[in-house]
Amino acid sequence: MTDTKADRASAGRVLLIEDEEATASGLREGLSANGWRVDCAAAGREGLALAAQGGFDVLIVDRMLPELDGLSLVTELRAKGLDTPALFLTALGSIADRVAGLDAGGDDYLVKPFAFAELNARLNALARRPGRQRDPVTLSLGHLQLDRLARTLRRGGREIELLPLEFKLLEFLMLNAGQVVTRKMLLEKVWGFQFDPQTNIVETHLSRLRGKIQAPGEASLIVTIRGAGYVIGAPASIGAGQP
Ligand code: CA
Repeated sequence: MTDTKADRASAGRVLLIEDEEATASGLREGLSANGWRVDCAAAGREGLALAAQGGFDVLIVDRMLPELDGLSLVTELRAKGLDTPALFLTALGSIADRVAGLDAGGDDYLVKPFAFAELNARLNALARRPGRQRDPVTLSLGHLQLDRLARTLRRGGREIELLPLEFKLLEFLMLNAGQVVTRKMLLEKVWGFQFDPQTNIVETHLSRLRGKIQAPGEASLIVTIRGAGYVIGAPASIGAGQP
């Protein structure tokens, strides 16, 4: 997690993907003066790679970029499951262009030339939109680190291989860390079942998952709450000493 005090005190973290140098440097200066932490990319592929790392509150995306155009960039990002708000900033201002931008997964569209105050206001609105929080790429719990993009899991220095369903199960538990999830929730969210198959499918997979993430002697991370469900990272086990 790169979330520091300075980070929270700022307007937010913005990734500016723009190939015109003068525009980029002018924007960077204006955004910084307004409290934004700014990262820049001057080409589509670089922009996509940075955006895919996550941690940004909002993206500013030019439409016409070298290597990969802005529309394709946002389309690819959404396909990867990242929903960081994106504002297209572009000279292409027809209704058809705007519609294409929103269809590609953009959240807002501002046509050049624009007033900086308007851009800043729109970025603030996007970054603070309720329900649109940072989408963490890495979920961490104590020494356990789940990378949702690379689909890898590590506990301390150890790499752990998971089957797709085990990955999904652990991901759901970690997204709800510290909260009890019921068997019904797991059946619905992990297996997609709207009914209880009356088998021990949940218990079997949890037991296998426990065996994989927990070597002998390591702290137990998934706790069974009798009659209620399961919880990962109950206060007693968060950050437990052993890696
Ligand atoms: Ca351009």
